Amino acid sequence: MSNPSLLILPGDGIGPEVMAEVRKIIDWYGAKGGLTFDVTEDLVGGCAYDKHGVPLADATMAKAQEVDAVLLGAVGGPKYDNLDFSVKPERGLLRLRKEMDLFANLRPAQCFDALADFSSLKKDIVAGLDIMIVRELTSGIYFGEPRGIFEEGNERVGINTQRYTESEIDRVARAAFELAMKRGKKLCSMEKANVMESGILWREVVTKVGEDYPEVALSHMYADAGAMQLVRAPKQFDVIVTDNLFGDLLSDAAAMLTGSLGMLPSASLGAPMANGRPKALYEPVHGSAPDIAGQGKANPIACILSFAMALRYSFDQGAEADRVEAAVEKVLADGLRTADLLGEEGVQPVSTSQMGDAVVAAL
Ligand code: ATP
Ligand code: MG
Repeated sequence: MSNPSLLILPGDGIGPEVMAEVRKIIDWYGAKGGLTFDVTEDLVGGCAYDKHGVPLADATMAKAQEVDAVLLGAVGGPKYDNLDFSVKPERGLLRLRKEMDLFANLRPAQCFDALADFSSLKKDIVAGLDIMIVRELTSGIYFGEPRGIFEEGNERVGINTQRYTESEIDRVARAAFELAMKRGKKLCSMEKANVMESGILWREVVTKVGEDYPEVALSHMYADAGAMQLVRAPKQFDVIVTDNLFGDLLSDAAAMLTGSLGMLPSASLGAPMANGRPKALYEPVHGSAPDIAGQGKANPIACILSFAMALRYSFDQGAEADRVEAAVEKVLADGLRTADLLGEEGVQPVSTSQMGDAVVAAL
């Protein structure tokens, strides 16, 4: 069998800095961990524009379609602020998402014990938290027609349309059930079937898909009640699946259960490929952070945890994903902190590469 393939797109700003630490982990796997990846590295964002005049070259796009997974750092920066909209760095990322048809956005909220004090909630509510929000990403109210601001009588009216087809609900539900199978076998679907037609259809289709996953315990919750439960007792959840709008709100709220932007990974999944695994793009939630770029201050953990997600969801290496996460847990428990994680007085921050080295040592 051939090695698992990975396309690495470090991008701009702190992207290359945090990705360099992931490369150390990949090298460790090749040398000592018994796992060799076929890695290709390429350009996306401003650096691709500098070289090719576009934020994502066609050859890079084609490569992204072939590999088992894409791992991206971050794109953009002040240098590119005045570029034409069509070649802005962010357009490179949007092209990847669109052409790979990544319809399921995965945002885990995972609380490392050593950082539980960072949460906006009480420690016992979040310690040990490990949940996953699956947000539908390519349809719903952000895309439905009609949309626009129209004249109506003697005033204007702003219109958006929430619209979901059965197949759009079916595919994101399936992605969520597949994830639940690899995790705690518990899925909660959130909509507002009490007041929205799309919510009624959502609940019906998710229930139907659930018949194919009898091992997964499926529940349904109105999204407003779900928001309340998410901050009241988040550990009751394992996987949550919801639409584009509710997912936007719920995943940002869930992120704040755990603290710093420098800790948050994400993934976007598409349709299953020939090998049965979904097309996938993994990236930290944070951006290119121009204010700290080039200073060795960036926290590489969000990018490292994004790679751990790739291990679990694209490479079927759940035990290795656990190993990487445990290594992160260990260095945090040992007291290592990048500058963004500093609270206590007197603790000296470590650099990006010191943090990466410590994670490798913990592996
Ligand atoms: P984008 O539009 O690309 O999302 P943004 O300006 O919204 O960018 P970020 O680039 O994520 O947001 O930066 C927001 C703040 O968080 C900045 O002050 C940045 O320095 C900080 N930050 C982001 N990522 C990290 C990280 N990995 N480590 C440390 N600090 C970070
Ligand atoms: Mg941002």
